[in-house]
Amino acid sequence: MNYGTVAYYTLGCKLNFAETSTIGRNLTEEGFAKIPFDEGANIYVINTCSVTEQADKKCRNIVRKALSFNPDAFIVVVGCYAQLKPKEIANILGVDLVLGANEKFNVVHHLKDLQKKEETLIFNNEIKETKVFTPGFSSSDRTRSFLKIQDGCNYFCSFCTIPLARGRSRNASIEDTVNKAKELAKTPTKEVVLTGVNIGDFGYDSNESFYDLIQELDKIEAIEQYRISSIEPNLLTNAIIEFVATSQRFVHHFHIPMQSGSDKLLKSMRRRYDSSLYVSRIEKIKSLMPDCAIGVDVIVGYPGETDEEFMKTYNLLNTLPISYLHVFTYSERDNTTALRMEGSVPMNVRRDRSKMLRILSEKKKRAFYEDNINKTETVVFEASNNNGFMNGFTKNYVKVSAPYNPLMVNQIGNVRMLGINENGTMDIEFEEAKMETVSVRKG
Ligand code: SF4
Repeated sequence: MNYGTVAYYTLGCKLNFAETSTIGRNLTEEGFAKIPFDEGANIYVINTCSVTEQADKKCRNIVRKALSFNPDAFIVVVGCYAQLKPKEIANILGVDLVLGANEKFNVVHHLKDLQKKEETLIFNNEIKETKVFTPGFSSSDRTRSFLKIQDGCNYFCSFCTIPLARGRSRNASIEDTVNKAKELAKTPTKEVVLTGVNIGDFGYDSNESFYDLIQELDKIEAIEQYRISSIEPNLLTNAIIEFVATSQRFVHHFHIPMQSGSDKLLKSMRRRYDSSLYVSRIEKIKSLMPDCAIGVDVIVGYPGETDEEFMKTYNLLNTLPISYLHVFTYSERDNTTALRMEGSVPMNVRRDRSKMLRILSEKKKRAFYEDNINKTETVVFEASNNNGFMNGFTKNYVKVSAPYNPLMVNQIGNVRMLGINENGTMDIEFEEAKMETVSVRKG
């Protein structure tokens, strides 16, 4: 039965993308037809983020956009912002339904009557009541798919609202997760990114672990490669690092949040490691995988970050063999303990420090790319055509650029890296002998 058309919009992280796809598959199974956002759907589902700066403004804009394509559309808002500030969303003109963390996968049950009404309906429970884990994977991109293996977090870092928006740490069993991955293996995707809020915590309340999980996933031959999205340094054990170093499927790329190089601030943030543990993880990775890409999250302008503490972070990052930074400028969040802390850093200082770290990130990235010049690597090519060029990523996360060739879309090519171009991506040439392998695959 066809109930009408539905379009989706996702704000925020990889996990949100995986979850929007899961909601989409559920609605398709129930008879709703997915159409592009700008084609005037009967229903719009907007999956929001609370980490995003100005979440309310972004949400408001998307709602307005949806209504411009169909003024009678039924607007549903889900996601972290919907869990944290449901009333704020209900006040946005045109929103019909707000679903919190417990209800977001039950959208279909709330779509009985699609008439727009005066009152916005809100279904939102206390976050501690959210215990169900709904697995899933993203399917919007043919090349790369985000497999949701875990949700929620038990850590309560002082600056973070995610545990309030997503609840306690939880996951499916290894057996169920592997079955989901096998389902995903039937799609054309070339790369599976393991995604969650705190994925290293997988299996914390059972006798399973993230290490056990990756060993089982590694056995699925139909999946060409896995990438681990982001993992806390205290949970990234030597055993995991050693396993990735020898695996044929797990690529040499880690993303490890550091947040600060100052032990005083790490303690105040309630992070569960100090700078020496962090350094030891990087050293271990590089000793086993000198080619490994390492991305780092860092926060600047956290309360109490004096010039001296900031320089500890800067100097540590400068000396470490890392490949790029994700720099977050600290911003005050309701209901976090950091909000009550002394030593607020003026906004202009936060901005200046952020700029310094972004420049450092560029320097690190360039040095990492330069180390890769003249090397031969495999690349998964993506679909988009950017003015006659296409991009792809090596296993160790070097972004390459090549003239657009539709035959290479979503294919793995063997390339030699020539040099960094003016856009900061790597120019390449295809290795002829290996191209035959690519054409055999296509046949
Ligand atoms: S580990 Fe800390 S920063 Fe990460 S989600 Fe949990 S509370 Fe937030």
